[in-house]
Amino acid sequence: MTAELTFTTTRSEAPMSAAEREAVLANPGFGSTFTDHMVTATWTKGEGWHTGEVRPFGPLQISPAASVLHYAQEVFEGMKAYRHEDGTVWTFRPDRNAARMARSCERLALPVLSEEDFIGGIKALVEVDQAWVPAYGSGEMSLYLRPFMFASEAFLGVRPANEVTFSVIASPAGAYFPGGLKPVNLWLSRDYARAGAGGTGAAKCGGNYASSLAGQLEGIEHGCDQVVFLDSSTQTYIEELGGMNLFFVTKDGRLRTPALTGSILEGVTRSSILELAPDLGLTPDESRIEIDEWTQGVASGEITEVFACGTAAVVTPVGELRWDGGSTASTAGEGGGEYTRRIRQALLDIQYGVAEDTRGWMTRLA
Ligand SMILES: *Cc1c(COP(=O)(O)O)cnc(C)c1O
Repeated sequence: MTAELTFTTTRSEAPMSAAEREAVLANPGFGSTFTDHMVTATWTKGEGWHTGEVRPFGPLQISPAASVLHYAQEVFEGMKAYRHEDGTVWTFRPDRNAARMARSCERLALPVLSEEDFIGGIKALVEVDQAWVPAYGSGEMSLYLRPFMFASEAFLGVRPANEVTFSVIASPAGAYFPGGLKPVNLWLSRDYARAGAGGTGAAKCGGNYASSLAGQLEGIEHGCDQVVFLDSSTQTYIEELGGMNLFFVTKDGRLRTPALTGSILEGVTRSSILELAPDLGLTPDESRIEIDEWTQGVASGEITEVFACGTAAVVTPVGELRWDGGSTASTAGEGGGEYTRRIRQALLDIQYGVAEDTRGWMTRLA
C-alpha cells in the first residue's frame, strides 16, 4: 500500500502561550489536556482517503445520526512521542501500531489506512506541535498520541459506513507512577467478559473498553485497580486486563504470557518484552495459562513476579489477585520485583534513546 494522503496545515490562531504550555507540562496528568492542533482525514466510498488536514484542535462536527454513535464502528491506537537528549522527537515501533490498526479496521469493517498515511498523519501533527513534547529528563514524561477512526456517515441503517473519519490528537502525559513504581491489585472478574471467541477482543476498538467497564467498577468496589478477564467460554484461562497484557516470571527463569487466542489484544509492549526477554536471561513462553496456575504458583513460589504492560504505563508490577472469597499473596514489593524493574527500564532506555536501538524500533518524528 502507498500513501494516499497529503496533509495541509492550518495553524491555530489562538495557540496556548509558551508560559501556559509550560504550566500544563509541569503537571500534565493523563489525557485531559490536548495540544493546539489535530489531524483529520476523510474516507468516502469510491473516492478513498482524502482531505488530510492539520488544523486547530477543537470539536468535530458530526451528525447525531453518525453511525459510530449508534453502532460503535470505531477503532483506535495508543502511542507516545519521546524527547531524546539531543532534542529530537521519536516514537516506538509505529509500524506495529499501523499494522494493528489495519487489522482492527478489517475486523470492524472500516477502510484500511496505509502505514505511510498512518505514520504521515502522526508526523504531520508532531511537527506542528513538537513544543508539546516534554523535555528530556523530565521523568518519564511523553506526548501521548491517539490515532482513531470512526464511522462518520449520517445513516441509521446497519452496514459498514460509506464515510469514515481518521483523526490524531495528542495529549502530554506525566509519569504514570510519579511517586515511584507502585504495585496494583487486580480483581478476577467472574461475572463479566471483555471479549469472546469470534468477537472483537483482538481489535483495539472502543466497544471492548465499554464492555470492560462494569467489571472495572466491580473491581474498584473490591479495592482493586484493574480487572483480569478469563476466556469467556470456559472461565479457565487467563486472558488480559481491560487495557494491558499480563506476564508471569517463574522460579525457573521463564517469562510466561497467555498465547494469543483471538480474543487477546496483541500489545506492542507485549511483543517487545517477549523479544527482550533473552537479553535479560529469561526464556519467553507463550502458552495457555490456567487461572489455577496463578493462584497455586504464587502459593508454591513457582511464580515469583507478575506484571502488566501497555504503552501508557509501560510495565506495572502486580501485587495481589483478589476474587470473591479469596486472594493471593502479593507478588511485588514497593518498587516491583527485580525482573519487572529491569524489563521496564530496558524498554524506557530504548524509548528515551538512553540505550542503543539495536533492533530499529525507534522512528524519528521531529
Ligand atoms: C492497547 C491494549 C493493550 C496494550 O497494547 P500496547 O500496544 O502495548 O499499548 C493491551 N490490551 C488491550 C485490551 C489494549 O487495548
